Amino acid sequence: MKIAVLGTGMVGRALADRFSTLGHDVVIGTRHVEETLARTEPDWLGNVPFAQWQQTHPAVRLVSFADAGPHGEVVVNATQGASSLAALEAVGSANLAGKVLLDAALPLDMSQGMPPLLSVVNTDSLGEQIQRAFPEARVVKSLNTMLADVMVDPGSIPGHHNVFLAGEDTGAKETVTVLLREFGWPQEAILDLGGIRAARATEMYSPLLFAVSAALETYDFNVAIARK
Ligand code: NAP
Repeated sequence: MKIAVLGTGMVGRALADRFSTLGHDVVIGTRHVEETLARTEPDWLGNVPFAQWQQTHPAVRLVSFADAGPHGEVVVNATQGASSLAALEAVGSANLAGKVLLDAALPLDMSQGMPPLLSVVNTDSLGEQIQRAFPEARVVKSLNTMLADVMVDPGSIPGHHNVFLAGEDTGAKETVTVLLREFGWPQEAILDLGGIRAARATEMYSPLLFAVSAALETYDFNVAIARK
């Protein structure tokens, strides 16, 4: 499958790497190719400069957001939440029409430091904002409730744990489910929460994620739904 991953941070890299290893034809999108390749410092999370990562991932092609759009049969939003709408505008609504748009972003507001606040809550979500802004895209909110490494390697966390889906388009959720299964998510771990409105719930889980992370001093965990 042709997949366009928008975002050169740790989520974009983890997803692009895994999709590529699985045999998909992957591009990774950025604002300015030259500027991204010219960076020499680690990013704010300590990830190596993109050019260094690229050397070990030659099959993943770095392109502008605008050039990523036409490539992707599936488009993945792994951009900074505050900038996701701008990044998707750069991709262009015509390039998103009819496509599965897997949205893994969180609307984090880092202005007060850690833990982050959310810039949209309760009555709206980033996932819904994206679906409203690009009504012809088939938006599926998923993977946003865990660390990037866990998204693509669920077996790294022992036992049962969950990944959520939210979106209006059943076929799009089926496509995302196929990709999650390729990552190694068991079918019973994939919990469909219904329409895109449920993106509010999974985005608003993030304060708990950051609190648990602070308590455990690691992001190597995930949420598991236990039921009778
Ligand atoms: P990030 O630092 O949040 O985002 C990096 C990407 O955002 C880069 O591609 C960057 O573009 C783009 N970006 C930044 N400012 C922009 C702007 N003004 N306009 C357009 N694009 C802009 O990276 P991340 O940690 O990989 O996270 C990606 C998304 O996943 C975020 O929404 C995050 O909240 C969410 N998330 C992250 C994790 C995790 O494990 N890190 C877990 C769950 C959810 P350039 O390539 O041009 O620099």
